Amino acid sequence: MTSPDRSPRLVPVSCETPQGEPDGVHLSLMRWLPQIGEWVTGPALCGQSATQGALTDDTPVTCTGHAGSCEAYRDAYQRSIDGRPTAQQEQIDALRAEVDRLTAELEAAHTARLNEPILRHCVAPGCLHEYDINATLCGRTPERPTWSGKGWLMVRPLDGDICPDHAHLVGVTVAPGPHLPRWQYGDNDAPSTLRCACGWASPPVRWRRYATEAWKNHILDLPEQP
Ligand SMILES: [Zn+2]
Ligand SMILES: [Zn+2]
Ligand SMILES: [Zn+2]
Repeated sequence: MTSPDRSPRLVPVSCETPQGEPDGVHLSLMRWLPQIGEWVTGPALCGQSATQGALTDDTPVTCTGHAGSCEAYRDAYQRSIDGRPTAQQEQIDALRAEVDRLTAELEAAHTARLNEPILRHCVAPGCLHEYDINATLCGRTPERPTWSGKGWLMVRPLDGDICPDHAHLVGVTVAPGPHLPRWQYGDNDAPSTLRCACGWASPPVRWRRYATEAWKNHILDLPEQP
């Protein structure tokens, strides 16, 4: 046999005016008093003194609808009886969870931003090859296999990169190719010239990119197309 439930609970109680007139139905905490072996009710939650004894559970509570009413206190009392966190604590926990969620979201966005592909195109004219310099420098596998940096060369005089298919134009790291250009800088602010080992030279330039474009034009003019 299980022992009867003797935990305190909220019950409807009636109150009276000092003149003994009925003054509504309120809520009170009913406790079991082992000393006398009986359930007893206390004052109403709103502070009014109440008639001893609980009304039936389905009696509608009339002390409601305003701050400080019995109904306004019901939730806080019931949480305490149930051993649940207060409404405020629950709100704090929910806010903390929201902060955690937003922090994770922000971190994910930050990581995605850091890992965003940065594509570099081949400097050979008409070539559509590209690679992800961000993934390559960070040692990550790029999002697409065609964005691999394997075999690409940086061509500093051209401020560009060249794909494996065209790397022979400028040569590999050990041996310079026929069209690896070098800058011949003009003295005293005179224009500079970009020159190939093959003998080609750009027009005298003041704007670096102009020479790069001239070099591309030279590559297109080669008898063997790149
Ligand atoms: Zn009340
Ligand atoms: Zn290429
Ligand atoms: Zn050349």
